[in-house]
Amino acid sequence: MNMKNKRVMVVSAHPDDADFYCGGTLARWIREGAEVRYVICTNAELGSDDPKTDPAALAALRKEEQTAANRALGVLDTTYLGYPDTGLKPTDELRVEIARLIRMQKPHALVTFDPWLHYEIHPDHTAAGLSAVYARHIAKLPLYKNDLIDNDSLPFWAVEHLYMMKPDRPNTWIDIEDFLKIKAETLLCHNSQFGMLYSSPEQGEALIREMSHKHPESGRAAEPFRYMPLEGIKGIKAYISL
Ligand SMILES: [Zn+2]
Repeated sequence: MNMKNKRVMVVSAHPDDADFYCGGTLARWIREGAEVRYVICTNAELGSDDPKTDPAALAALRKEEQTAANRALGVLDTTYLGYPDTGLKPTDELRVEIARLIRMQKPHALVTFDPWLHYEIHPDHTAAGLSAVYARHIAKLPLYKNDLIDNDSLPFWAVEHLYMMKPDRPNTWIDIEDFLKIKAETLLCHNSQFGMLYSSPEQGEALIREMSHKHPESGRAAEPFRYMPLEGIKGIKAYISL
């Protein structure tokens, strides 16, 4: 996929999710000319092992960390939906909120968690992925009616490409070998989550390489996705061959 001038929306559950699971890919796409925007569903206020942590302060800190990470990676902006951490549910409300953002931002590609990953132990990841995948369906229907979506001011938008990160059955690997350092630098901005693992991008690069999946053909560091074309004849073929 030629990423020049392509808009990419990444829907995740917590700050650090997208940077961790597909930061190398996003760095690559941004270098190739893509515009990347994040939607983060929860406040991530429970992301600490220290019982003395103030959840509100942690939520604020994690937003600051995400802002720094966006700067490092080149992400244009982040929309926070403000749901409670570990309480995210794939509700109609969440689905419509994401669909509304899809109609506003008109992304060519949607990246989110694979909601059908076996053994996923974080409920927020499944809920974010399922809501985003189903939101894309709402976003493309011109006859869809909802108080939050006015079809005149927010006309339907069909996302053409779906990339599911942390996939159950990957069918696409994006080579990130040349983007390991920027991924390490980006993750280091999430100091509350990764600060104990390494202290410089150079140090982190080796760790991220070690933790990365390997491209099945080249053996180079890569990030796996379940990719689905969504529109046109390719989309129909992909859908009926599931
Ligand atoms: Zn997460």
